[in-house]
Amino acid sequence: MNLDSSITSVKGVGEKTAELFARVGVRTVRDLLYYFPRAYEDFSRAGAISDIKPGRIVVKARVENLKLSRRRCGLTIVEASLVDGSGACRAIWFNQPYRMTAFKEGVEYYFAGEFDMGAGRYSLTNPSVEEASEVVEGGVKIQAIYRAIGKLKSRDIGRVMGKVRAVCGDMRELLPEGVVGGLMRRGEAVYQMHFGEAEEEMTRARERLGFDELFALVLAGKLNKIENQKLKAMSVKFDAERVREFVKGLPYELTGAQRRSAWEIVQDLERTVPMNRLLQGDVGSGKTVVAGLACYSAVLAGGQVAVMAPTEILAGQHAETLEKMLGGHGVKVGLLTGKSRNRKELVGKITDGDVDVVVGTHALISEGVEYRNLVLAVIDEQHRFGVKQRQKLMEKAADGAAPHLLAMTATPIPRSLQLTLFGELDVSVLDEMPKGRVEIKTEIVSPNSVEQLWEKVRVELEAGRQIYYVCSQIEESEDLDSRGDVRAVKKEFDKMRKVFTGYEVGLLHGKMTSEEKDVVMEDFVSGKVKVLVATTVVEVGVNVPNATVMVVRDADRFGLSQLHQLRGRVGRGSFQSYCYLVTSTSVKPTRRLREIEKSTDGFYLAQKDLEIRGPGEIYGAAQHGELDLKIAKVDDMALVRKATRAADEFLKSGGDLLNYEELAGIVRRYQRLTTLN
Ligand code: ADP
Ligand code: MG
Repeated sequence: MNLDSSITSVKGVGEKTAELFARVGVRTVRDLLYYFPRAYEDFSRAGAISDIKPGRIVVKARVENLKLSRRRCGLTIVEASLVDGSGACRAIWFNQPYRMTAFKEGVEYYFAGEFDMGAGRYSLTNPSVEEASEVVEGGVKIQAIYRAIGKLKSRDIGRVMGKVRAVCGDMRELLPEGVVGGLMRRGEAVYQMHFGEAEEEMTRARERLGFDELFALVLAGKLNKIENQKLKAMSVKFDAERVREFVKGLPYELTGAQRRSAWEIVQDLERTVPMNRLLQGDVGSGKTVVAGLACYSAVLAGGQVAVMAPTEILAGQHAETLEKMLGGHGVKVGLLTGKSRNRKELVGKITDGDVDVVVGTHALISEGVEYRNLVLAVIDEQHRFGVKQRQKLMEKAADGAAPHLLAMTATPIPRSLQLTLFGELDVSVLDEMPKGRVEIKTEIVSPNSVEQLWEKVRVELEAGRQIYYVCSQIEESEDLDSRGDVRAVKKEFDKMRKVFTGYEVGLLHGKMTSEEKDVVMEDFVSGKVKVLVATTVVEVGVNVPNATVMVVRDADRFGLSQLHQLRGRVGRGSFQSYCYLVTSTSVKPTRRLREIEKSTDGFYLAQKDLEIRGPGEIYGAAQHGELDLKIAKVDDMALVRKATRAADEFLKSGGDLLNYEELAGIVRRYQRLTTLN
């Protein structure tokens, strides 16, 4: 048996077991060794029941008085008394009815888990269980716990793992010798992951294997960047005179950050390699005008620009803004969405080059849309677009030349992610707000005090201001009902009409047709609608400077970045603005809400969001999920730095992946998943 042997060559692994392993991609002994434990239990810490205190505990006990109860909502609860010589304690398992038949009478088991107050009593909740005789006394102290695969339980997997123990050492280094440096050897690290007995060694093992993953990820980004440098793009000559004129014609002075970013962009555009730049700036920092300036430059050079937005509302608003900004300079702006009535005519114009700047949603990259000379693509809220869509956009470019790419995002990307997931992008940052902005006042409101809130809102309405009122769901569903009182947008709409009689109330949600949405949005922009009851459709980019109040219902159901985005819809003019976060119940607000109440700094909040939710949810789950990092955390800044330095050195020293077959495979996969081209 060696690392490449099929796992059926491991003693005790038959066809059936092999099939189960195949479900999680484990086919060879090598794959098996990379099926890492999901947790560890230290059974040597087992103490007497009479001594336990709240917190993580391990006890060795017999099971008595097993009881199963079912709640109406479908929840099952197994309850038991754990008994040792010193006393007894209660254990409960939620939704694990099989526990009823899992224990043998009079047999001792180890139970490990959290001992805490729940439902009025102290109990051990969802403890993991090992039969005491299965845990080698005095031998293994720390036991690996594996994620069960169907009928294959942790213990079964551990047993199979034990049989391949000896081949860990055969594992060759994934990384070039020079890179490995002082890190633990790979084979040793893999061994430690499964059979380690000392915390310190196991920590080093995690660091080592995490480093492998991050090194490959960072290297993939850097290689993509190098590949990108080989592509040809049209050079856009910078027309200083006319651009200066454009800037002079704006109704405001550009901020220093806007000038700097615009300068970085026009310099990129002059080059014959495609720009690959992310314009990152908090909500309201003024990204649109920077993009507008880039559009103007490209058009002056005879090119076309595609401006892609994630929603139709936003596309519509961008088209309008750009028309206002550029129309007077002879630039022809068109809006192409999925339902454009004049679609055919517009597509014809795009092909003939009669439109200079085409704004739209995904319709911009749909079948049959041919550009005459696509030189620049601007993508707003870039992390909402998948890799495939970006690729399609690239294919629309004029004969063989790649378009320059400018992505914009208001969700700041923490440094660690910039180096890993977004490694190939150059970044311009708008870290300065336009002058005259008044800080938005944020307040958490208990649902018990909404009456007082309505009074505050009414004051704003009387002053002529407008209100956003955001709910999390469209209709009340039974499922959500059981989690508490979710305010359905339609019901709230009816309610708000009664609360704010005399003021026009509008309704906006994702299930409306785009025509319906447009009508409401136009009425809100024009000031006819005073209170807009909406779902998160209004989350990104919408700009109504007269709106001064953002009320978010069930605010605890939203993510931090999402709340920050929502808050960014107000405070866009010179009026004092307010954001009221109404919680779903009157219990004490979550950490997330307290963070958002405390800070208006998008960068700080993004970092917190990353800590609370992890990168997958925020920066495109699918994309990140496929990256399949088993050990490393992309937000582990120290390790990311180390991996980045190593990748730089590897490339500088002329390292060639051809000599590292296994690494090359992994890097190529990452390259495909993270590339922008
Ligand atoms: P975002 O970065 O969120 O996309 P926008 O581009 O929508 O922000 O700009 C927000 C508002 O700020 C707009 O009304 C815009 O006209 C205005 N604005 C942009 N730049 C400046 C500036 N330098 N000075 C004053 N107002 C500005
Ligand atoms: Mg914007």
